[in-house]
Amino acid sequence: MILRVDRLQTELPPPSDPDPVGASAVQELLGGKFGEMSTFMNYTYQSFNFRSRQGARPFYDLLASIAAEEFGHIELVASAINTMLTGAADGDPGEAGDLSGVKSTRNTQQFIAGGAAALVQDSMGKPWNGDYVFSSGDLLEDLTHNFFLETGARNNKLKVYEMVDHPAARALTGYLLVRGGVHQVAYARAIEKLTGADLMKMFPSPRIPTEKIPECQPHIQRGEHLKLYRFSPKDYQEIAAVFNGPHPETGEELRIAEEVQPEGAPPFDLPPQPAVFAPGPEPEEIAQIAARLRQAAGLPSEPTGVVANDGSGVLGKVKDALT
Ligand code: MN
Ligand code: MN
Repeated sequence: MILRVDRLQTELPPPSDPDPVGASAVQELLGGKFGEMSTFMNYTYQSFNFRSRQGARPFYDLLASIAAEEFGHIELVASAINTMLTGAADGDPGEAGDLSGVKSTRNTQQFIAGGAAALVQDSMGKPWNGDYVFSSGDLLEDLTHNFFLETGARNNKLKVYEMVDHPAARALTGYLLVRGGVHQVAYARAIEKLTGADLMKMFPSPRIPTEKIPECQPHIQRGEHLKLYRFSPKDYQEIAAVFNGPHPETGEELRIAEEVQPEGAPPFDLPPQPAVFAPGPEPEEIAQIAARLRQAAGLPSEPTGVVANDGSGVLGKVKDALT
């Protein structure tokens, strides 16, 4: 089972100028063949299907831990897309013309089927597909596939980084390029422990110059390029038996984080978009009902969850929170 923490794995900026065309490109990193839905579902099904877990425990623990991290990556990509779509469909429900601004955007379904929201699709609107999951039951085959998947995923992230200059897309790809590098190394190291073959020497690809990318630097300085998390208070300890030794590119020592999960950051409470009925045509009504329910349940009058802004949905206040 999975425990859930109501924080993002890394900080994303607040909404700024909307960029729906950029957001449609970022969809590739969510629902594309090499997107986060794919990494999450590949490692999740491989861990569900894993036989002889006790006999192969370090490898099982590695797959299960990285699978859990990928869940949070999907959350991050969706949050970046939602941030980029905020304000693109400004207006009130029923006002003719309030959505004309997004008529010619690349993915109108984000507004028609969704409330200015991420969809489980790639950058061309093609739905994510279970055929993207490879779970053969053969550990070496699965690990080799995963190395290839992480390699392709980083390649796609770099292209989206180069294509889209919205601050949310840049913060997202800066973080995911660093974490994807750790996963690439982890699967290469697992194959090396199993067979002696060093994939990082055989296929030094993709050549991602993370040292040149400003948005990667804060994560590298915090050592995020060297460690894996277990995402569990007690379990999955045996990843330490596989994920160790020097980083193949920098020579620094790989390690397992002492903390259960990344510290991360609270998400911005993105403002309502009533023109697309999110969270409804009259968001105030829902807020009033929630306040009454909270009171009746004996909860504090202020919401107990933590967000990065004051939750009023006013963008000016969101920006104030950062300064
Ligand atoms: Mn990922
Ligand atoms: Mn990954």
